Parts: sequence; C-alpha cells; structure tokens
Amino acid sequence: MNLEEKLRKIPDFPEAGITFIDITTVLKDPDAFEEVIRQMLEQVKDLDFDIIVGSESRGFIFGAALAFAAHKGFVPVRKPNKLPAETLSIDYDLEYGSNTLEIHRDAIKPGQKVLLVDDLLATGGTANASCKLVEELGGEIVGTSFFIELSGLGGREALKDYEIYRLLEI
Ligand code: IMP
Repeated sequence: MNLEEKLRKIPDFPEAGITFIDITTVLKDPDAFEEVIRQMLEQVKDLDFDIIVGSESRGFIFGAALAFAAHKGFVPVRKPNKLPAETLSIDYDLEYGSNTLEIHRDAIKPGQKVLLVDDLLATGGTANASCKLVEELGGEIVGTSFFIELSGLGGREALKDYEIYRLLEI
C-alpha cells in the first residue's frame, strides 16, 4: 500500500507558504490506519520499552493505537492546564513565540524505558520537549517513532540524542 498517496496535502495552511500534511485521510481509511500502526509496530518490535508517551493531539491517536497494539501503557503529554493531577511543565521555543507542554509527575517511574510517539516530525521542538519531560521524571527515552518525517526542517538535529523511527520521509 502506498501510504503517502493516502495523505492529503493542504497548501497555505495554517498560513501562507506552509503545506500542511493532513493525516485525517489515513485515519478514516481502516486499511491504511491499520497498515500504519502495523508498520510502526514492526519498526520497534525489538526495542525494549515499558510505556509509550504521546503529545497532544495527534500523538494521542498514533501513540494510543501503538500502545494498544504493543500491549503497553500510554501517557499523554498535554497543553497547559488540561491534566488534573500534579504536573511538570516545559516551555520551548517556536519560530514565532513559544509553547508549553505538561506531563503528570507520577506518570513515569524513574528508570522506565519510554518510546515517544507522534504523527509527524518537523522541527523536532515538540518531540524534544516531550523527551525532556520524560527525562526530568527519571525516564529513559529508548526511541522516538513517527508516521512522517518532514525533512529539511531540523528535526533530526533536534533529536540527535535519540533513535528515530519513521515510516515516510516527505
Ligand atoms: P515540530 O515540533 O516542529 O517537530 O512539529 C511537529 C508537531 O506539529 C507534531 O505534533 C505535529 O502533529 C504537528 N505538525 C507540524 N506540521 C504538521 C503537518 O504538516 N501535518 C500534521 N501535523 C503537523
């Protein structure tokens, strides 16, 4: 199956000059969605990890599906003020402005081996910030897994300390 053909590319979203990769066309296709999760699982099948962390919001979709398929737990990293229990926060820079992400302080136990999952790697800011949250709680990032890598945006450099698995490079 050609998974790239299942994606939809939207020009000038969310602003002029940016081509947005729309993964919702894959999600609504049961064969394509199943194939993505099957292939992502195949890439990490020999990796020793205890739990999956995924960031809001598309990291929830792929991370939770992969966690279910691998019979691992799932931990959400969320936008500020969404998580109900005690949280740890991180601020990270965007091209314009900054973002904040949070994780429950008791979500990761020291020494736990974590696979970080998201739909797409662009600059790597989101994934790197999520990894730092996990590490601050004493977890060990044993890999990062993405459906898509947008090349040329610095994602690999931002995640140079981590193993990167991905299905498509665009
Ligand atoms: P980064 O932090 O620059 O690597 O951007 C990756 C994050 O932004 C991921 O959580 C993606 O869900 C989201 N993202 C950035 N660009 C796109 C896109 O073209 N399609 C879908 N999601 C995107």
